[in-house]
Amino acid sequence: MNHKFETNAVRTQIERTQFLEHSVPLYLTSSFVFEDAEDMRASFAEEKDRNIYSRYSNPNSTEFIRKVCQMEGAEDGFAFASGMAAVFSTFAALLESGDHILSARSIFGSTHSLLTNFFPKWNIDHSYFRIDALEKIEAMITPKTKLIYAESPTNPGVDILDLEALAKIAKRHNLMLIIDNCFASPYLQQPITFGADLVIHSGTKLMDGQGRVLAGITVGRRDLIDKIYRFSRITGPALSPFNAWMLSKSLETLAVRVDRHCNNALKLATFLEGHEKVNWVKYPFLKSHPNYEVAKRQMKAGGCVVAFEIKGGKKAGREFFDKIGLLSLSANLGDSRSIVTHPASTTHSKLSSEERAAVGISDGMVRISVGLEHIDDIISDIDHALR
Ligand SMILES: *Cc1c(COP(=O)(O)O)cnc(C)c1O
Repeated sequence: MNHKFETNAVRTQIERTQFLEHSVPLYLTSSFVFEDAEDMRASFAEEKDRNIYSRYSNPNSTEFIRKVCQMEGAEDGFAFASGMAAVFSTFAALLESGDHILSARSIFGSTHSLLTNFFPKWNIDHSYFRIDALEKIEAMITPKTKLIYAESPTNPGVDILDLEALAKIAKRHNLMLIIDNCFASPYLQQPITFGADLVIHSGTKLMDGQGRVLAGITVGRRDLIDKIYRFSRITGPALSPFNAWMLSKSLETLAVRVDRHCNNALKLATFLEGHEKVNWVKYPFLKSHPNYEVAKRQMKAGGCVVAFEIKGGKKAGREFFDKIGLLSLSANLGDSRSIVTHPASTTHSKLSSEERAAVGISDGMVRISVGLEHIDDIISDIDHALR
């Protein structure tokens, strides 16, 4: 199909039933029936491509997966109950005891906990590379290294990694490159076009975009997805049909929503850049961003997250949070409602202060997930709280 992104997002749809419904129905069914003994045998033998049990596949999940595959330029995918289920199952399906993960240091907090607190139990080791020192990555590759893992933009520092450069390193050493593309969404950035093998999303963020459901998805190379599928259909992290149905609907409006998120975020970042109570502002599409050129090359727009540091450290930070009126104090992001987070005391509080410093999180740092309210109201709430 030669249709554009927006058209595919709206028009990709599983087969209609005999009722010829316009909008896709919800398939709340745990299992599917067979015509006869031979049909059942052939289905279990995988001679037929069909639904058997919703832990394996379900029409609503299939539609969601097809949409994301089209958006990301991926061959196949599997949908999960949460972003973390996608991250865990992807690693667990592809790695063996003794393997080594080479990961960017700035990754989602729970992913960091997975690598540091849980994978060592199964003798799966990791090293972290600094995102401002990609030239040092090759020296960290060992014979046990199986994959390179990164997010871009990063959370919460909104740093940008050069995906093409990472893919070249991965190819040279025959490693898989896996990118968590959650902060960009498939509308702004498609890591597979730069050479990634797999792309992971938390569907909970911009994909749903309205703070309603948890979801995750991994898409990419068919041979790798097949391994992930075989692991997941046994271990059971499947996405519920209801959430899949919701997500597939949400994707119809992804482009429209993300365009507005990005317009609002750029306006807010520009406003904060000139603010007397602010030390620094980071947003990928601000010229002052250290990787502005890379961001321009690999992203369609800068995303919904703006990071900045309030003058006056922790005390000023607390006062700022107490004075916020309209915006939500919450840990989510990519929601229609603007959200303010203080990473040092919440999402990244489990890191030591040295670990926080290494990923660019200071005590006065604030992360804003810019929502879909009118930008004048967003700016005025933040400006008031800063003053
Ligand atoms: C939220 C998030 C996750 C985890 O997703 P859940 O749906 O909360 O499990 C993983 N990676 C990134 C970058 C995220 O923002």
